[in-house]
Amino acid sequence: MSIRTKATAAVASAAAMTLFAGAALAASPGAPGVGDPYFPTYGNGGYDVSHYDIRLNYNPNGDQLSGTTTILAKATQDLTQFNLDFLLKVKSVRVNNAPASFVSDNGELTLTPRGGVRKGQDLTIVVTYADSPSTVKDRNGYTAWTKTPDGALAIGEPEISAWWYPSNDHPTDKATFDVNVAVPNGVEAISNGTFVGQTRQINGYTRWNWRSTKPQATYLTFLTIGQFEIRQSTTPSGQPSFNAYSERLGEHTDAAKASVERTPEVTEFLADNFGPYPFEAQGGVVTPDLGYALENQTRSNYDDAFFRRGANTYVVAHEIAHQWFGDSVSVHHWRDIWLNEGFASYAEFLWSEHVGEGTAQENADFTYDSYPADSEFWNVLPGDPGASNVFDGAVYDRGALAVHALRVAVGDEKFFEILKTWVAEKKYSDATVEEFIALSERVSGQQLDEVFQTWLFTKGKPAESPGRSADVASKSLSVQAEPKSRAKIKLTHELLDAHK
Ligand SMILES: [Zn+2]
Repeated sequence: MSIRTKATAAVASAAAMTLFAGAALAASPGAPGVGDPYFPTYGNGGYDVSHYDIRLNYNPNGDQLSGTTTILAKATQDLTQFNLDFLLKVKSVRVNNAPASFVSDNGELTLTPRGGVRKGQDLTIVVTYADSPSTVKDRNGYTAWTKTPDGALAIGEPEISAWWYPSNDHPTDKATFDVNVAVPNGVEAISNGTFVGQTRQINGYTRWNWRSTKPQATYLTFLTIGQFEIRQSTTPSGQPSFNAYSERLGEHTDAAKASVERTPEVTEFLADNFGPYPFEAQGGVVTPDLGYALENQTRSNYDDAFFRRGANTYVVAHEIAHQWFGDSVSVHHWRDIWLNEGFASYAEFLWSEHVGEGTAQENADFTYDSYPADSEFWNVLPGDPGASNVFDGAVYDRGALAVHALRVAVGDEKFFEILKTWVAEKKYSDATVEEFIALSERVSGQQLDEVFQTWLFTKGKPAESPGRSADVASKSLSVQAEPKSRAKIKLTHELLDAHK
């Protein structure tokens, strides 16, 4: 997936904010972005969303999507107009039941409600639309919606929502969701949270109803449509589990099941390390045509290539770890991506140790050794990788080494106390790398500037793998036993790095 920068809009956004700064008493337009330094047009200013009700019809023949999204929000300032992030053709908009005029321009849907909006006012925004999403490009010529032979995938990071529902598209404005999608009878339509049943329509369509009751970021909300085998059950912890396997997985089908069916076991292990699982349901979807995996809230999506060499529980550990690191505690700005990928990658090391396929230390050492000192890898900073490197391999691999360096510096007891305190204090919210560093110092009682400066913010290969013992360091790489988990973790990261 390519990351797009939107420099033109950044200038417009900054100008708008400057213009109205200091004019707090006057109504003004909401900003067209939330001020994310990497992606200035993402999200919008002036309101806060609490709920999305997405009610759509989709016909895979011709890729025809139509329907209505109803947004419940509250104004955070007096507004003359405000924006939603959306790319599809809009038919009508109502704000608090009155028709509102609207202009669509390059992913910004600007609404002008009659008489304006007062700060604190409740908003009910109803947007009706119809389009063929696979033909819709953003201002950089990119299409995040994927038309497949038997359906479609609305899965993407950092952007996907603009191709299927209007939103305030930034992780700092989470909301609850009802996603209800009607597809031709015999086709499956899968989304997040709890499956609340099917409704037969009169026209040969079946509506699939999904509900997410915990705060959910817009990019983590997904829609997967096609021919799927469904496996529904209840986990030992009593949660609903809903897994789906594309009927096009071929010889990867059983390896996919042997991995994703273990989601509750992986979740239980990670809960021991991170604290209680933050959501109300579990599951996974395996499908071709995705090219990577994504930690959609409660139900990750996996490309079947992860399972081409047999079962791979490492990618499951990675995506499930994101339920805490990324989904419950989200990035405040996309610059904070290490808080997602560093910790999800480190969870693979923890899982490797748990299943007896190599310790976290052995995995850290092999990761460190696998990149020569003159590799460009060491010049991407996990703590501030840049907009075009948000999913660079360094954010994952050096990011995991940074987590291990913290563990070595504070010891196991304080390390896991830091992780549990972090996910508890920041639950259902968003956070910055700087806040994580401050919390680590508070919980450990140690000054940790050098650890984080070395592993997150300094170019070049650090002098030694964190925590490597002297006797191991004195041996050459060739005589060290490779951890059994190494091949699967390497495959997992090769595919996850393709996600850019
Ligand atoms: Zn990840």
